[in-house]
Amino acid sequence: MVEENKNFYGYMMIIAIDGPSGVGKGTLSRRVAQHYGLLHLDTGLIYRTLGLLLHKEGMKAVEEEAALKIAKSMTLRQIAESPDLRTQEVASLASRVSVFPSVRSALLDMQREFASSDKGAVLDGRDVGTIVLPEADFKIFLMARPEVRAHRRLKELREKGIDPGLGEVLREILVRDRRDSTRTAAPLKPAEDAYILDTSDLTADEVFQKTLSFVEKK
Ligand code: C5P
Repeated sequence: MVEENKNFYGYMMIIAIDGPSGVGKGTLSRRVAQHYGLLHLDTGLIYRTLGLLLHKEGMKAVEEEAALKIAKSMTLRQIAESPDLRTQEVASLASRVSVFPSVRSALLDMQREFASSDKGAVLDGRDVGTIVLPEADFKIFLMARPEVRAHRRLKELREKGIDPGLGEVLREILVRDRRDSTRTAAPLKPAEDAYILDTSDLTADEVFQKTLSFVEKK
């Protein structure tokens, strides 16, 4: 039974939740963070913020040097949820910019700084358990069928007043899946010691309960 946020060694509890787009990482991470009183960072927001900054500079083609310059200037204080970050265009820019190894490493410190908070933290993304925080106390890797993820993503977008249509959302998910899992720098894959959970046929509540059982049993 986890009674406080500290682990065996006296460090604050760190939970890494990874997986592809639309798999339910955000919902799960928020609930887990709230349950244990931990801070939460959606690391996708960092890549999306970079994508949006590039977009604002009018950059259509994503170039490593320009992206790196902006990445190096970014701070945690700039990272905040906003409807501008949720467009398909920004998602696509984020995914394209995230293939550059130099850009990824420029963004690592920010994520580790967040995790070192004395409150403990839940970070969700693609490479949190493998690269960002390989020493995280708990690693969870979510997966789900692409069609299921497209439906969930479309529902989320509609709630935000955006409706690109199911076909477009599915197409974008498949393109991003391919790019995220085939890139050489920090490809999307479960850490060896991750708890892998297929959420396709589970409700958000079931995913939450299964995650809690994993954490409490470990
Ligand atoms: O999770 P979200 O869809 O907001 O992430 C947007 C994009 O940012 C992803 O498609 C992925 O390419 C990139 N990303 C990443 N590593 C992370 C988080 C997001 O490469 N840890």
